Amino acid sequence: MKLPKISIIGCGVSGLTVGIVLLKQGYAVEIITEKLPEQTTSAIAAAIWLPYEIKPIELANKLSTISYLKFQELAKQPDSGISIIAAKMLLQHEADAWWKEAIPKEFVRKLLPSELSAASTCGYMVQTPLIETPLYLNYLLKTFHTLGGQILMEKIQDISSLSTEKEILINCTGLGSRALLNDESMYAIQGQIVQLQASDKVPCVLAEYTYGAKGEELAYVVPRKDCVILGGTLVKYAEDLSPIDSVTKGIVERCQELVKEIKGLSVKNVVVGLRPGRQTLRLERIGNLIHNYGHGGGGFTVSWGCALEVLRLVKEVSERD
Ligand SMILES: Cc1cc2nc3c(=O)[nH]c(=O)nc-3n(C[C@H](O)[C@H](O)[C@H](O)COP(=O)(O)OP(=O)(O)OC[C@H]3O[C@@H](n4cnc5c(N)ncnc54)[C@H](O)[C@@H]3O)c2cc1C
Repeated sequence: MKLPKISIIGCGVSGLTVGIVLLKQGYAVEIITEKLPEQTTSAIAAAIWLPYEIKPIELANKLSTISYLKFQELAKQPDSGISIIAAKMLLQHEADAWWKEAIPKEFVRKLLPSELSAASTCGYMVQTPLIETPLYLNYLLKTFHTLGGQILMEKIQDISSLSTEKEILINCTGLGSRALLNDESMYAIQGQIVQLQASDKVPCVLAEYTYGAKGEELAYVVPRKDCVILGGTLVKYAEDLSPIDSVTKGIVERCQELVKEIKGLSVKNVVVGLRPGRQTLRLERIGNLIHNYGHGGGGFTVSWGCALEVLRLVKEVSERD
């Protein structure tokens, strides 16, 4: 049986992961993209495994479990940019830990009262994948090329200009889907993060509650090899990509309250990214067009689960023809 040719639009974590999964199954794959991975939202993410600002919850958990297990496997490869770290998740409401159902039980434990912060009432210590985004995106890109994948640099203005007659088209354009498909259920969730100089003495701690009257201020500390990431903000419908100094100051103060070890580390950089928010993530086939976008603050977390579902949808088309 001759396999159909596949074109994927988008070269962030979603497009690359789908590309690798399909190449490994013998499909010929081309990515068409406006921007390369280092210029995408994916490059701005912190990132750790955590389904966050992503719906529906049951589906997000199912997809996240698949990625969790895949990241455990990738952590054994030194060049992947993935490692497994202990992350302290602080909560004010037990129900906010809905994501713990997605993790094998032996990798989660409840925090002792002595481990909680002043503002938290409960929490978990989780063995979670740390995804060093610059290294990991490079690893994905290299793997994609090694498997024979091609990349064409082009911004698609009109999706109907691409033929789906003999080919399968997969849409992995993140927030770009809003303009490409006139998808009004998509919205930007702006996030500012601060990069401090690297330190191996800093633990990973995340407060899963918000600060401030509008609930737009977060506090999380993610130690990577190249820097320590401090987050952040979560501002729905805001699209400006310029960092704001007063916001940086607030992030550093909140994170210092959580993790004393960051005191004295200098600021290397401050960046702003737009999470691809959507009422529910879209993982759906319409004829020969498959959509995979709207992953909010959890695009890395669901990436391998989504890619396997896309593969299932691709096979539906291959087996039909
Ligand atoms: C501050 C911040 C922190 C985050 N932290 C985490 C975290 O810890 N864990 C986690 O799992 N997630 C995190 N995320 C979310 C994560 O970054 C996103 O969900 C994920 O990057 C989405 O990936 P994507 O590949 O779908 O989209 P993108 O990375 O946005 O890639 C979209 C691609 O499509 C291309 N494209 C768009 N429109 C067109 C067009 N018309 N024609 C051609 N190409 C087009 C773009 O050029 C790009 O290559 C964070 C996000 C932010 C902003």
